[in-house]
Amino acid sequence: MNIIGKRFSPDEFWGYAAQTIGEASWKGSFVVLHNTGSPTLAQRPSGLTSEHITNLRLYYEDLGWHAGPHLFIDQNGIWVFSPLTAPGVHSPSWNHVSYGVEQLGDFDREAYTSGPGALVRANAISALAALHHAACIDSATLKLHRMDPKTTHRDCPGAHCADEFEQIMRDVHAAVVAREQV
Ligand SMILES: [Zn+2]
Repeated sequence: MNIIGKRFSPDEFWGYAAQTIGEASWKGSFVVLHNTGSPTLAQRPSGLTSEHITNLRLYYEDLGWHAGPHLFIDQNGIWVFSPLTAPGVHSPSWNHVSYGVEQLGDFDREAYTSGPGALVRANAISALAALHHAACIDSATLKLHRMDPKTTHRDCPGAHCADEFEQIMRDVHAAVVAREQV
């Protein structure tokens, strides 16, 4: 499996996404938001490491997948996992038309608007804004994994994240507008 395996700050990711997606022949039409469930934030108090990312690659390879989600968001930034230039594997109905964004945490049980969950949320907003801007996506098209009629992950991305769905779309839109005015 070909992965990028590199962590970016939100500022770095804005430039990376613009350049990478700008040159890509495939583009996603919308973003699907996930949570890892396991590992939890409590299990990764310092976020993900390169070794964790390698282990995720091995996990997906064992499943026989050719790719995984495009991004993993943690407390520290934005990990690019599968290349943004091709479809990933993360949501059965939507793999071929969407970007998959995983957020570290179990947001059925862990907070999303305070503590480390709030750091993940903020980095996710930045990552989503960069993707929406680079691929010319309207923030109103954002989807949660559990909205996929074919998925068995009926809880993803967790209740505390799902409760924020409308606000996330507003925040992504505001973040895109703020960037475009710079
Ligand atoms: Zn999911």
